[in-house]
Amino acid sequence: MRPLSPGAASFFQSFRATRKGELHLHLEGSISTGTLVRLSTRFRNPAFPSAEEVSRRKRLHGPSSFLELYRDVCRCLKSSADYAEVARDLAQRLRRERIAYAEVYVSPAVVERIGLSWSEVQGALETVFAGHEAAGAGRIVVLLDSVRQWGPETAERVLDLHESSPWPRVAGFGLGGDETALPAREFRRVFDRVRSLALAPLIHAGEWGGADGVAEAVEVLKPVRIAHGIRAVEDAAVVRLLARRHLPLDICIASNVATGAVLDGRNHPVLRLLRSGVPVSLSTDDPGLFGTTLRGEFVRLALLGASGRELRTVLAASRRGALRPFSPPGPARRSRGTFPPSPRR
Ligand SMILES: [Zn+2]
Repeated sequence: MRPLSPGAASFFQSFRATRKGELHLHLEGSISTGTLVRLSTRFRNPAFPSAEEVSRRKRLHGPSSFLELYRDVCRCLKSSADYAEVARDLAQRLRRERIAYAEVYVSPAVVERIGLSWSEVQGALETVFAGHEAAGAGRIVVLLDSVRQWGPETAERVLDLHESSPWPRVAGFGLGGDETALPAREFRRVFDRVRSLALAPLIHAGEWGGADGVAEAVEVLKPVRIAHGIRAVEDAAVVRLLARRHLPLDICIASNVATGAVLDGRNHPVLRLLRSGVPVSLSTDDPGLFGTTLRGEFVRLALLGASGRELRTVLAASRRGALRPFSPPGPARRSRGTFPPSPRR
């Protein structure tokens, strides 16, 4: 790691007051340790009996231990009120960091898997998110999420739920989970439907899977952004493809290091991608589980050698890549929104 350049140091002086956005953030992964222990210890044989146990589980050994941790966190959520509590953790963190705009992945597939009603959970989340906006704390946009290893049928079910009861706060649909489980082409029809529902298509790729998986996702599913995408760096042709199409990567450095997707943080490819002309934004991914902040993500980027100008470019990328304007609509302007987004950039 290198010392901060003068330009980078001045970037951080104004960081707190700057209007910032986050485009890659998961609701369940935003749970605080206190909430996790409290929700878990309501039951016999809790998965997270203490803060010490949470810390132990956060020491990951690759993708399977992360997916198991995430699964066990979700299993602690037993009601729409529990979801609201996690949403309050998330909103509190956004306020603390003065994040003006956040796109948050919420997974109706997980909600139904744990036996809850999506419409009740949606209602509980809407109350928290609307309250956050009404207090002037920033805008929250929802990205519906499906779990890749649960297949296209589950993704279709998520879209059924949205179609039968559209939630105006939803602007996009993404695919997360184990990206090595099924190839992107299995979801071609799902993503055609995503577009027909005026939702922005998004996908997690190039975190655990290689550059070929990124290329396939780009060519077959035509996402508007890619979550992670870092392993594109392994193939210069895929990097050129992303740069040529101005396809943004929503990168989370601390997450990549914590899960072992990048073994040594000093070699994280974020700067190489940025300097190759790929649009890059930074986010926290699962801030409750990785103990990271948006400022922390930018500090990591600066320590990798980013100049003040490069830090500002990455900061601006979240606004350029956002599916909606940073400011919440007034009551009269509240609408479903459109995709592609209206020309406002
Ligand atoms: Zn993610």
